[in-house]
Amino acid sequence: VEIPTTTTSGAELGVTPLRLRSNQPPRFYRGGRAIADFRGIPASGDHLPEDWVASTTTLNGEERLGLSALPGGTLLRDAVAAAPESWLGAEHTRRFGADPALLVKLLDAGERLPVHCHPDDAFARSHLGCRFGKTESWVVLATRSPSAAVHLGFRQEVGMDLLAGWVEQQDVGAMLGALRRMEVRPGDAVLVPAGIPHSIGEGVFVVELQEPTDLSVLMERDGFGIPSSHGHLGLGYAAALECVDRSGWDADRLSTLRRRAGEGRPSGPGVELLLPSEADRFFRAQRIVPRPEVRLEASFAVLVIINGSGTLHTESGPSLELVRGDTAVVPFAAGALTLRGGLELVRCLPPAPEESADG
Ligand SMILES: [Zn+2]
Repeated sequence: VEIPTTTTSGAELGVTPLRLRSNQPPRFYRGGRAIADFRGIPASGDHLPEDWVASTTTLNGEERLGLSALPGGTLLRDAVAAAPESWLGAEHTRRFGADPALLVKLLDAGERLPVHCHPDDAFARSHLGCRFGKTESWVVLATRSPSAAVHLGFRQEVGMDLLAGWVEQQDVGAMLGALRRMEVRPGDAVLVPAGIPHSIGEGVFVVELQEPTDLSVLMERDGFGIPSSHGHLGLGYAAALECVDRSGWDADRLSTLRRRAGEGRPSGPGVELLLPSEADRFFRAQRIVPRPEVRLEASFAVLVIINGSGTLHTESGPSLELVRGDTAVVPFAAGALTLRGGLELVRCLPPAPEESADG
């Protein structure tokens, strides 16, 4: 256990669920209005398209940017380092140390994101000295138009020379044209395995669950102000493009990555697991709708309230009132929870315990 770098301000840290303020590091692409509208806060910039919720992860190469602060100012990262078993539970701490192994974001694509992909765990470990790659997933909250879409996976296998040429020439038309286009609507949940090339389309607003890194290979840079010296993780494109999944994704294969609203796995009364089971070893997303009450087992969790209002009760501590747009972090030591009221939320959980793969 590391010595905490800040003193904790209250004994309740690591015991009580806490509501979180927005945490919006600047990014190179546009967006942010949907986050402000959702949270009911003033829009404060055109390049604040992400809100990192309960983050213990920094932006790539940064010391602090990206880290979430708890009420009182202590960084969540430091609070977890000071009491990992309280925050994460013994089983998780044994596997991951003082690392939640999860990053949750609200992401508002104010413009189409560049075509990019992320390394997997093996690539991150061998090339970057990092335990985690970045498998990610999207739970779609809203779209600005009915034809909103994402691009995901090559239609057919693409050779390395062809891909390297597209990146070198910045042939965005060829790259986008080679990707499958998937229209998305609110309630959709999409798993994005590490390596698969992708681009979230303009006007798509999601809760993103991902491994806790900020490692991206930017195949597209033109128009985003990204110099050619960036976008390859410092490896050079020849090495970085080795992490790209160049295989073909036909419509049937691609459909295995998405679940429409209501197509998730029931996981007890009022609880639905949204993502395909292949996601469980990375993260789990539950849609929770109390009718009128839901009981939840103890776990570290990140909550995003997507509709209505209600109350989160713990066994011993004070209760927490929650409304649409709120986000909260729940420590393991808060114990079993009861949710009551007319609310709907996404509960984001770290990798499934090894004993039970279905969470
Ligand atoms: Zn991505």
